[in-house]
Amino acid sequence: MNYKNFPMVSKVVFGRGSFNQLGDILEPKRLNTEAPFIFFVDDIFKGDAWLCSRIPLSYNDKIIYVSTVEEPKTSQIDALVEQIVLDFALKPSGIIGIGGGSTLDIAKAVSLMLTNDGESSKYQGWDLIKNPGIFHVGIPTISGTGAEVSRTTILTGPKLKLGINSDFTPFDQVVLDPELTKNVPKDQWFYTGMDCFVHCIESLNGTYLNAFSRTYGEKALELCEAIFLGDELTEEEAQDQLMMASWHGGMSIAYSQVGVAHALSYGLGFLLGIKHGIGNCIVFDHLEEFYPEGVKTFKAMKAKHRINLPQGICSQLSNEEFDTMITVALSLEPLWENAIGANWKSVITRDKLRALYQKM
Ligand code: NAD
Ligand code: ZN
Repeated sequence: MNYKNFPMVSKVVFGRGSFNQLGDILEPKRLNTEAPFIFFVDDIFKGDAWLCSRIPLSYNDKIIYVSTVEEPKTSQIDALVEQIVLDFALKPSGIIGIGGGSTLDIAKAVSLMLTNDGESSKYQGWDLIKNPGIFHVGIPTISGTGAEVSRTTILTGPKLKLGINSDFTPFDQVVLDPELTKNVPKDQWFYTGMDCFVHCIESLNGTYLNAFSRTYGEKALELCEAIFLGDELTEEEAQDQLMMASWHGGMSIAYSQVGVAHALSYGLGFLLGIKHGIGNCIVFDHLEEFYPEGVKTFKAMKAKHRINLPQGICSQLSNEEFDTMITVALSLEPLWENAIGANWKSVITRDKLRALYQKM
């Protein structure tokens, strides 16, 4: 048996208001005055003085606001890298992502593509990155994806929605300040929070499960149940705990894998542009066959928070469109192997996936 030797986030600070320490955290990492820090900030914060006035800018440092209307694309990463190369004489001292999973993934991918040649699509997959990226920092403003802790950055490319999974992908520094999540809208809070819940269910019910993953997954699941089904937490406690649930959920899949919901959700994302969090919810709602207990709990959470998921999103699709989604879903072999086992190909057929998509 050859065990995987995974890197983790090197440094992390946790606490309400810890975002105020960003200047102190970054300054020792400045290579010189010509090598800027580039801040990728979710454009929802444009004009938000409470957050933006605390971004420590000096010398040539720059804020680039990014839209999260669509999930990150390889073409978008390539354009951002080109812009940085053209705008600055030297490579940046650091890349900082401030936002949700989309913005964190943009920061990770840009950091990697500044030191690895060619287009980002050629690195989608497992362990294709050759060189360490630029020093990169993740600062989540919404909790659930685990992108702050994971070794992937998920991109939609010309052919696939697939992560750049590598030992160089995890952040060098993460700032966990739960206060930054205080204005997340309710529906989005639920969708992104459920990403964490689904990570736990898929990890805990997968064939890759081991004690490392289980301990993180169980803790994250316990936190999710308290946050989404309990009544005892204050708003601040819930923010703090969801941020830690996201972290633990991400750690749980680091040493295992996600499963059926993620594979099918990637198909929806690729073809229909349905975003990860809500996509997982739409899919998970129909996965009793694979995760009976998890789906029961999910439905209770959905009811408690009066969440209405879109229905019939696949009702008008052509055969060709179903084929595209099914091909994307089936390409995620490790997910299926984790969910079903080594013989997954005898269980998960194209017809089976079509029948599942038709329910959504
Ligand atoms: P997101 O980053 O798109 O953010 C969701 C929405 O919440 C956006 O509209 C955003 O503007 C808004 N938002 C964020 N913070 C806010 C705040 N504090 N106040 C108000 N609004 C706020 O979505 P997400 O669910 O965080 O991330 C989804 C993305 O993450 C997808 O692209 C997915 O592929 C990726 N992902 C990555 C990993 C990984 O390990 N790298 C894991 C899971 C998902
Ligand atoms: Zn996910």
